[in-house]
Formats: sequence, structure tokens, C-alpha cells
Amino acid sequence: MSDLILVIDEGTTSTRAMLFAPDGKCLASKAAELTQHYPEPGRVEHDAAEIWERTLAVTRAMVDQAGGAERIAAIGITNQRETVVFWDRESGEPLAPAIVWQDRRTAAICRDLREAGHEPAVQAKTGLLLDPYFSGSKIGWAMQNWPQLKEAGNRLAIGTIESWLIWKLTAGENGAGVHITDATNASRTALMAIGSGHWDDGLIELFGAPRKALPEIVDCAGRFGETTLFGAPIPICGIAGDQQAATIGQSCLKPGETKATFGTGAFVLTQAGPTPPTSRNRLLSTIVWQLGGRRAYALEGSVFVAGSLIKWLRDEIGLIGTAAETEALARGVPDNGGVYLVPALSGLGAPWWQPEARGALSGLSFSTSKAHIVRAALEAMAHQAHDLKTAFAADGVDWQSVRIDGGMVANDWMAQDLADMLGVSVERPKFAETTALGAAMLAGVGCGLFDGLEAASVMRGSVETFEPAIDADIRAARLAGWKTAVDKVVG
Ligand code: ADP
Repeated sequence: MSDLILVIDEGTTSTRAMLFAPDGKCLASKAAELTQHYPEPGRVEHDAAEIWERTLAVTRAMVDQAGGAERIAAIGITNQRETVVFWDRESGEPLAPAIVWQDRRTAAICRDLREAGHEPAVQAKTGLLLDPYFSGSKIGWAMQNWPQLKEAGNRLAIGTIESWLIWKLTAGENGAGVHITDATNASRTALMAIGSGHWDDGLIELFGAPRKALPEIVDCAGRFGETTLFGAPIPICGIAGDQQAATIGQSCLKPGETKATFGTGAFVLTQAGPTPPTSRNRLLSTIVWQLGGRRAYALEGSVFVAGSLIKWLRDEIGLIGTAAETEALARGVPDNGGVYLVPALSGLGAPWWQPEARGALSGLSFSTSKAHIVRAALEAMAHQAHDLKTAFAADGVDWQSVRIDGGMVANDWMAQDLADMLGVSVERPKFAETTALGAAMLAGVGCGLFDGLEAASVMRGSVETFEPAIDADIRAARLAGWKTAVDKVVG
């Protein structure tokens, strides 16, 4: 019987495959680390060939665990968004490095477009802002700077990570694969008019993207092709960008329902229903899913540095040995000792959008200990989330509660600090892999196991709740200290 769902969750720092039963139980998972390439300050690249090889290996391991491809009803794919891959349709090999979402090399291109007055029109069409984060300027830069892309002519294919993986999974004997992207990933390229569901010729021209190299935009659930790499054919039935998948996996299906993911970066999405929301406070409007050609939207606040700050403290600064030890260090001091860490290590995202801002550590004295700095790093998560809450509220969206997930929320101290600083209850699912769960739900809908996302929500398990418990004066003092620190960075 084939009733298992295999999810590929291709993240920024690792790629993972997981096996789900139809009741949402995760039966097995396997992850592989990905190499981060930093060729110059502000540049972040991945090797698309490595992404494919490692994804293939972990996927194969899950097929073996399942007892063969015939046990698997569908594949769901979720992925780091905005990262762009360039490949050759004939050889199926990458033609250049993948430019990662964190990469800031197009800051000047975006600034020039902004100064030329393009931002209001770009925002109206795409729901996004002119920032290097989105794929459009990255594609334009690559076309200008990597001659092999133009030389490839009609052989050039461009896509975000899910497009790349689907091409490789479906490539037959002649090497040609299915070239598609789902509407959520497409909505992050700045090349799609999010109200229409199609690529926009004006945007394609503005950013200098080659129209013919782009994939076809499809729904998030359906039958999109099949892979025969593992024996019996397995259909690919669910696709969504990681933050949209997490929103679905957290069952934020009704307008107003909000999730916050703390992984490499932090991303807060509030479900907004069938009409694209308009932000006046520098938040993003994005497609949260497209099913049967109908789109649902979300308001999004994207923060570039979250878990990557802890990773940096561990790997570059050597202040800690493991991410997990931050919890005991933070608990070991009564407060931050006046220390604030503004983690603008790759510029600031929402609601500031300052790609050239850089991080700051302030309030140091001889009584500052390692624990104070670590605590300031964790506190920065709740402070950044609070800035988003203020921006969402100014756009008319008041959070009633927030559903959290991502690698960082294993940290109980941080989960409580979020509740304290946001002043709302914070729900943490017992099964924290909500991104993968969302992709599993979509794949379940796509292969006909469920007749919609509401029905697929049975896959979500129980939750733990953290309630605000901080003294109001302490909270106010923290927010004031953070504001002083951020003001210095945003200038
Ligand atoms: P992504 O999917 O973006 O690759 P994950 O959701 O797997 O990331 O989260 C990993 C991040 O969480 C890492 O950057 C790591 O530093 C951080 N992290 C993991 N465990 C903890 C912890 N106990 N406390 C704080 N941060 C943590």
C-alpha cells in the first residue's frame, strides 16, 4: 500500500528528507549539511550540484526506510526561498554558483532602481520592496556578470531551489526535466504580479531577466510530474517556499492567524485571505498558497539574522561551543547587564530594509560577561519580533497569539522571552518541523489523501503554550534600550 508522504525540506544550512504517515506522524528523517560559500563580504553562494547530490542521498535513504518507492504516495517539496540556480537544460548541470537569499551583491542595483522611482510600482505589483533579498536583481546581476549564461542561449534554465530539484528529480533519459515553480516561490522573485499569478513582462525587463529561461508557475498541490529515480514512479504533489509551508504546517488557515519561524533568519507571516494585503509600513505582501488556481495571501515580516547569529557566535567568535548552551548562559544572569546586540550582520530587513546597515554590540563594561552577550543575542530575537509586531499593528493586523517554530525555538528561555516581549501567548507545537509538515499537507492534498488544507490539518499535533509573565517596567526598559541601540545602526 502506498500511503506515506516523503518530504524534501531543502534549507539554507542543511537539506533534509522526512517520511510522514497520513496522521502526521514523522516516521524517519535524514539531514545533510550544506557548504556555505562566502566569496566576498556580503556575498553568499551555494553549489547547486552539492544541493542536488545531498538532497538525492537523503531522499534515497528515506525511500529505503519506507521499504521502497511503491510505499510512497507522494513527494512534497519545500525550500529556502529567493535563492537562484542557473543550469543547462541539455547537460542538467549548473552553469554558475547559486546566489543565496542572504546575498547583498545587488544592493547598488536596488538603490539605483529605488532612486529612479521604481519602488512604488514594484511594490504595487509584487508586494515586495527593492532589496537584494529577492531573486529579480540577483538574476539581472548574473546575466550581466556571468557571460556563460548569455552564451548558453536557449539552453539556459533559471529557477529557485524547488525548480532545480524538480528538474533533477524528473529529468528522463534525454536529460530534460519538468521546469516549474509554484506560486509561493514565484511570488518571492519580484518578477511575478502577485494578483495575476503570472510573470510580469515589465518586471522582467526592469530586472533584466531572460523570460524564456523562467519556469512555468503552478499551484502548490497537484500532480506535477513523477520521479523514477528510486524504482516505481513517485508523483511530486506538493510545493511551497519554506515560510509558506510553515504557515500551512502551523494551520494558520484563517485570516489573522500568525506564525513566526526562527531558523537561520526569522520570518513572521499572518494569514490575510484571498486579497493581497497592502503594507504602508514596509512589510511584504506574499502568496501563502495557490490551490485550484485560487490564491491566498499573507503579510510578512522578514528578519535576515536569527539563528545565524548564534551560529556566528559559535563558529566565528568562538564564544559558545554549541547553540544549545545559550539557554543555560541566558538563564545564568538576571538580566542583560545593559548589553544590546543589533544583529545587522547582513543588513537589516523588515521593517527597516537597510542592506548596508551593519551589526552593533553596545553597553559593554568590565562587568559584562559572556553570559550577558549571549543573553543579548537571544533577546535580540524578541526585540526584532516586537518591531515587526509594531509594524503589523500599524498595518491594522494585531496579533492575538503567535505560533512559533524553527531550530531556535527548542530554546525554552527564548520561547518565554518572546511571550514576555510580545505580550501575547506563544504556541510551540510539540512536533517542531512545521515546514516539512506543511509540505506533507500540500502533498497529501495533491495526491488526493485529503480534500483540502482544513482536512490535512489533522496532521498537526499538540502544542505547548508560553504566557507573558514579565514585569511591565522591565519590559518597557528593555524596549527602550533596544530602540536606542537600533537607532544607532539605522542612522
Ligand atoms: P534553517 O532551516 O534556516 O537552516 P533551522 O530551523 O534548522 O535553520 O535552525 C537552525 C538555527 O537555529 C541555527 O542557526 C542554530 O544556530 C539555531 N539554534 C539551534 N538550536 C538552538 C538553541 N537551543 N538555542 C538557540 N539557537 C539555536
